[in-house]
Amino acid sequence: MNPRAEILRVENLCATYNGNMVLRDISFCLDEGDFLAIAGPNGAGKSTLLRVLAALMKPSAGEIMLFGRPLTSFSRRALSKKIAIVFQNISFPYDFTVSEIVALGRTPFLSPWTPLSKKDNSSIREAMELTDTWPLRERSFSRLSAGERQRVVLAKAFAQQPSILLLDEPATHLDIHHQVGIFNILARLNQQRKTTILCITHDLSLAAQYTDHFLFLSHGKIVADGSASVVIEKRIIEELFQTEVYVGTLPQTHRPFIYPIKQTTINSS
Ligand code: ADP
Repeated sequence: MNPRAEILRVENLCATYNGNMVLRDISFCLDEGDFLAIAGPNGAGKSTLLRVLAALMKPSAGEIMLFGRPLTSFSRRALSKKIAIVFQNISFPYDFTVSEIVALGRTPFLSPWTPLSKKDNSSIREAMELTDTWPLRERSFSRLSAGERQRVVLAKAFAQQPSILLLDEPATHLDIHHQVGIFNILARLNQQRKTTILCITHDLSLAAQYTDHFLFLSHGKIVADGSASVVIEKRIIEELFQTEVYVGTLPQTHRPFIYPIKQTTINSS
């Protein structure tokens, strides 16, 4: 079996807002086809990390290497052919239809005033079929349910055919049926297209059914980076979230799950 190629290397990354350091000395690397779940308490720096990786924010120190090249050496257009990012609660300023929104994913590949090519149209259709949004194509985005909207936003990112997909809590605010649906779509993309996925999530139990690679952030630092069997551990989770938890194993999948224990917080001392 061929060893997988390294796709992303982050070295000693730091980031600040107005001189206030919110990411400190972050280092990790990912191979093609990795599926990384990023977790940690609110304010830990997870969204900032995604912003820096998508070059939407400049780091104050450190280096990001994408395909062995510094991230800074990519033009914005070249980068948007490699990386797609999906934020939470996306809205659009105009009342676009679903197919118009998914087509926006092809923007990095279009020349000015050139219509969509056959390849563009087939990427759009494939992304919509993967996310089951093809039947919604004529509908107005603003009149969709939260679950439908999230699938459309994912379809737009998939139409971009990125090598790396960055997701900020893609299943939050969805019911369990739609949460599982979103993770099933991500797993399909990850396995079929070898898309590398970095996904911020608060639902460690759900994420642990789909991936074995977790990165935990706290106060802007990495506190754990490893497989579920090592890092989804009672002491690590309790320290991370300052909350007493029960960690068990789901009999059906043999994957770990976490349940918080009623109203008991642990002193940080
Ligand atoms: P998380 O995604 O883990 O909740 P964030 O990356 O959003 O954390 O935030 C990390 C820290 O940076 C927090 O203390 C937050 O208040 C601060 N922060 C986030 N965005 C900004 C911003 N635009 N300006 C100033 N501070 C910010």
